Amino acid sequence: LLLPSTAAIRLLVSLAISKLNPAPLLQVEVSQQNMSEFRSVFSKAKHIAIITGAGVSAESGVPTFRGEHEKWRKWVSQDLATPEAFSRNPSRVWEFYHYRRELVLDKKPSAVHVAIAECEARLKKQGRTVVVITQCIDDLHRQAGSKHVLKVHGSLMETRCMSCGQVTVNKRSPICAALKGKGAPGLNVADAQIPVDKLPRCEERDCHGLLRPNVVFFGETLDSHILTKVEKEIEICDLCLVVGTSSIVYPAAMFGPRVASRGVPVAEFNMSTTPKTEYFTYHFQGPCGTTLPLALAQHESEAF
Ligand SMILES: [Zn+2]
Repeated sequence: LLLPSTAAIRLLVSLAISKLNPAPLLQVEVSQQNMSEFRSVFSKAKHIAIITGAGVSAESGVPTFRGEHEKWRKWVSQDLATPEAFSRNPSRVWEFYHYRRELVLDKKPSAVHVAIAECEARLKKQGRTVVVITQCIDDLHRQAGSKHVLKVHGSLMETRCMSCGQVTVNKRSPICAALKGKGAPGLNVADAQIPVDKLPRCEERDCHGLLRPNVVFFGETLDSHILTKVEKEIEICDLCLVVGTSSIVYPAAMFGPRVASRGVPVAEFNMSTTPKTEYFTYHFQGPCGTTLPLALAQHESEAF
């Protein structure tokens, strides 16, 4: 059974206060009190699990192609990131992923990525651990210096062979000659219709199978090896942060609530409340680039 969260109660308190006195100052005081309570819990935690999603990539300017305003040509991710779309039109899906790869290649880690990586390095010296469980398919957590990263939705910078199953890190730009200059996102851009033998192909000996992006498409199951590691982290963590995710894509949406169901504090950092906010102990609203660095900064009780 999930305990009713104090965050929901706090939200009511803050709404009640704002009705009595609409001055924003009072709202800020309420959220600062939450933050100082969170900071006290944070200072005692030994195993911290940080679940991150698209909002964290967005801090670095990486689009997610999930909304009407963020289409690639006339499609959103859900139309193209499926096994059916790839088998029907691998050229179009590769153009989409080629575009996304090229976009990510010149993005830099944001304040959120840096705060998480610095926190991991600092706490490690104190015998404490931080693990990042991310739905992001870019490489920005690792670029920021995070060491312990579980990528539950795969990676834009890896390919997987449709024939032999080989997974390979691949950061080439462009990934193959035929995709050079292709993948433009404009509404009226025509499909490049690249022949399938000119799309990225496996370089394993005698294979030459068609490669696909090593990302989890909609409707596919998560990698069981990664999921086993995630399960373990969810069982042992004594503090969980859910950062920049709308908590609507399963099973990742249940990771935070599952931690909460063990009675472990969970803090959500997001632009708005989510379907899972009610399960969580804390909710910090606003850009996670502002809220998270404050939350993870060195605590006064940390040994030097
Ligand atoms: Zn192969």
